[in-house]
Amino acid sequence: MSTIEEYDCIVIGAGVQGSFTACQLAKQSRKTLLLEQFVLPHTRGSSHGQTRIIRKAYMQDFYTHMMEECYELWAQLEREAGIKLFRQTGLLVMGPENSESYQLIKNTLQKNKVPMAILNHDNFCQHIPNVNLAVGNGAVVDLTAGVLYADRALKTVQGQFQKLGGVIRDKEKVIDIKPGPVVTVSTSAGVYRANRVVITAGPWANRLLAHTGLQLPLEVVKINVCYWKEKVPGSYDVKKRFPCFLLTEGEETKDHIYGLPSNEYPGLMKICYHMGSETDPDQRDKQTDRSDIDILKRFIARCFPGLVPEPAVVESCLYTLTPDDHFVLDCHPSYSNIVIGAGFS
Ligand SMILES: Cc1cc2nc3c(=O)[nH]c(=O)nc-3n(C[C@H](O)[C@H](O)[C@H](O)COP(=O)(O)OP(=O)(O)OC[C@H]3O[C@@H](n4cnc5c(N)ncnc54)[C@H](O)[C@@H]3O)c2cc1C
Repeated sequence: MSTIEEYDCIVIGAGVQGSFTACQLAKQSRKTLLLEQFVLPHTRGSSHGQTRIIRKAYMQDFYTHMMEECYELWAQLEREAGIKLFRQTGLLVMGPENSESYQLIKNTLQKNKVPMAILNHDNFCQHIPNVNLAVGNGAVVDLTAGVLYADRALKTVQGQFQKLGGVIRDKEKVIDIKPGPVVTVSTSAGVYRANRVVITAGPWANRLLAHTGLQLPLEVVKINVCYWKEKVPGSYDVKKRFPCFLLTEGEETKDHIYGLPSNEYPGLMKICYHMGSETDPDQRDKQTDRSDIDILKRFIARCFPGLVPEPAVVESCLYTLTPDDHFVLDCHPSYSNIVIGAGFS
């Protein structure tokens, strides 16, 4: 007869949120199990890919404040693991000068004294070559921002977790959660018990929460992750510290557009539309909407004259959205020993 393993904490989902949570729990000497449905590493959730933007440029002060601690935690992980995870490039924010989102971001940077540069139409080209600033658009640069090496970060934090005695079981899908003072978690391979459970299942959050009688207003969308070819290789290269960028929503686009300097595929810059079409996380390949790519093509033809306005590579990733676009980080309303982290896109 198989025995039931006991832990202080079980974290369900080994994406960026679950893996960092598990590592922090292990640092606090909690006996922790991290469960993942797929074989690690995998590309079927939200955390895969080589790069992500990190920034202090947000519309709300509280995110800018949180980022202080966040940058410190990233630096700490780099020191502990002896690996480089962050490259400072700055983030160029462009948007209609009088639009609410652009003004909010600019104000947040100014109010919180974040190192920044305000550009105008006269000095823009000198600082940001190969980009056209649209008439009526303003531009500021969050100088603290940059690129996080996402896949490398995930591998690193999972490694640190294991060094601290944490246990990772991948290829183990959680199929049932029985709440109680001690929570019982059943997977495709075994049964575990813990005093506390953290659910960080990304796009699958509601599937797991259903076992606890809770559903959150989450929408899962597929994002087309597009890479665009440089006409002259190196024009938008991370090594030359070409910045990440964000175009806030305006007349041209309902949602914002963002991009990262060429890195993972030499000579290709990643530029995406910050919205996609609804999908079931297990059926995402059936979602074939590419209307976002048409928006991106028009934007690139107008603003990035050094890129071929036709994507050279299109990959996919999932966003999990809440109605107000802020994430959910809370205890379960009925079971205080179940913690939920969801809707991080
Ligand atoms: C294209 C794209 C670009 C982005 N760019 C940025 C950016 O520049 N900057 C930024 O800050 N953020 C960015 N994000 C957002 C960021 O990547 C996400 O917020 C983050 O990856 C969410 O991580 P997560 O751990 O919540 O979800 P996930 O990575 O999806 O992890 C959830 C995990 O739970 C597992 N799981 C689910 N159900 C079960 C089960 N029953 N049993 C066991 N395991 C299970 C899944 O397999 C998965 O591995 C971007 C996202 C995308 C898609």
